[in-house]
Amino acid sequence: MEALVRLLDQNTANKIAAGEVVEKPASVTKELVENSLDAGASNIEVTIYEGGTEYIRVVDNGSGMSQVDAKLSVLRHATSKLRSAEDLLSIHSLGFRGEALPSIASVSRFELVTRLHDEEFASAITISGGENMDFIATGGNVGTVITVKDLFYNVPARRKFLRTVNTEGRYINEIISKIALSRPDVHFRLLNNDKEVINTPGNGDLVDTITSLYGKNLASALIEVQYEDNGIGIKGYISKPTMLKGTRQWQTIFVNGRTINNRMIGKALDHAYRSQIPKSGFPFAVLNITVDTANVDINVHPQKSEIKFGDEGAVYRVVYHALAEALTKPLMGSSSTDDLQESTVSSQESFVAAKRPFSRNNNGYESVQQQIWKTPELIGENSLRDFSAAQRTGENRDVAARENNIEFQDIDSGIDTIWPLGQIDRVFIVAQSETALYLIDQHAAHERVMYDKLVAAKQNIPVQQFLLPLYLDATPQEGSFIEEYKNEFLKLGVDIELGGETVLRVSSLPADIKNDEAEEFIREILQLLSENKNIKPSDLREEVLHFAACHSAIRAGESLSVKQMRALILELLNTEHPFTCPHGRPCMVEITSEELYKMFKRT
Ligand code: ADP
Ligand code: MG
Repeated sequence: MEALVRLLDQNTANKIAAGEVVEKPASVTKELVENSLDAGASNIEVTIYEGGTEYIRVVDNGSGMSQVDAKLSVLRHATSKLRSAEDLLSIHSLGFRGEALPSIASVSRFELVTRLHDEEFASAITISGGENMDFIATGGNVGTVITVKDLFYNVPARRKFLRTVNTEGRYINEIISKIALSRPDVHFRLLNNDKEVINTPGNGDLVDTITSLYGKNLASALIEVQYEDNGIGIKGYISKPTMLKGTRQWQTIFVNGRTINNRMIGKALDHAYRSQIPKSGFPFAVLNITVDTANVDINVHPQKSEIKFGDEGAVYRVVYHALAEALTKPLMGSSSTDDLQESTVSSQESFVAAKRPFSRNNNGYESVQQQIWKTPELIGENSLRDFSAAQRTGENRDVAARENNIEFQDIDSGIDTIWPLGQIDRVFIVAQSETALYLIDQHAAHERVMYDKLVAAKQNIPVQQFLLPLYLDATPQEGSFIEEYKNEFLKLGVDIELGGETVLRVSSLPADIKNDEAEEFIREILQLLSENKNIKPSDLREEVLHFAACHSAIRAGESLSVKQMRALILELLNTEHPFTCPHGRPCMVEITSEELYKMFKRT
């Protein structure tokens, strides 16, 4: 009888491995660039077209390969970096599994040209979909050039899963940024559709590298980290606590020089910052953690992006202490104190503006407003005083400089006029005063608070600069709207421009907009523009502030602590129109005791 169990042929095995190693253009790029680094390159240039889906080329000035090695390198499990299983415990190179090149070559049109420095000719190998390998001796520079075209052309199912060209291109940008941060001594360039998007100096200076990737603004807000304990070393830079982002994309962690993802280290970072600011958000960080190679297992993931520590707890403690210590040291750079003062002043201004008492009576709620206003005004004054006191002592300067967000307000007064009882469905807050019951829509209420704050900030709307711009597809018509209103948007903290005929590039948004809401925020603006072709700048401004308030407000469905509910109520009461959200929907409903009496037929 014919055997049912058969060994897979090489090409099939390669395609299966490609499923693990080669997930998207960015993973191809990562493998190729890591090979260049392993080959000792000091200069690496990556060129991509169409987000790498059509074309990826990596050129390096590394060692190159001999003819024999070049032929071997595209065979499965062929590696020059590992001789035996024991070597796995002491790996210092980035690659070791020997599956990247054959895997990539099995799912693309692949070309390798490589020349060893003392050889006369270069070797050129082409492979299409893992087949028809062709070899010729040719001319070429010392080093290696690998070109990967039409990724997944022979695996339509995989090709279908690729994201948009912009997204795939962004992943490549992210991965090269991270690798570049791990090697400030190497000059990296990335060209995306003929545009230079990364160009690091390669001068060995990490701060210069950070500056070239993320700009001067961030560079002036860096805190150096250098710490060692328990045989574990931590070195790198983090951002001061006032520079936070909505995602972890800003955090690059290396373990022994290898970029990794590790939840536990992310947690250690969060906890260290949280000891400084009780506000969620993610700091920028580039940290290299060195541990004895015997205490980590790097071979737990095909893309080598995860590792296992022998003693996770020990690493956690050292990272936490390293950061906690760094955060209490003075800041780098001289300009940072000026920045700090500026932002302190403006946040105090908007704080004062937001505390303006009600002046008008728009909703027929005057009596109630006046009644509930009295005490909060006092509390407002008090907390304002505390707030500036904190600023003066300088002790909590960073804390004070942050915007006055609800998670963040410190309320120690026990004399609220309206206090929360609880949350219903994580959507409504139930609250009471001496004489009434209140139902508050948490999203609408926070929207009102945020809107008033944005309006009060006038031209100084706090802005979040994106590490990597957000790219959005757009119609040519949307593109021309954006061009037309570009300057208006800029005044609102929205830095948006055409990044191509049908691509919008967004580099900054008002600070409080949640990261995962950014795209929808822009889409709403585009919708608005296409529906109101001749909108007046003042109306545009008004609408954009509405959207911004909406996308930065806490959502329906978020659970809130009592402290947060109190803070929200207090801030709501300090707005001019606590009963209606900026869209005109109710955000607070009052049922007086009189109404309760009536309801229960006690009158
Ligand atoms: P690994 O990196 O795990 O060893 P790869 O499939 O990525 O496996 O590469 C196979 C081998 O090809 C490497 O071990 C190395 O010897 C050689 N190689 C690959 N890329 C380069 C390069 N850019 N320069 C020099 N040698 C290379
Ligand atoms: Mg490799």
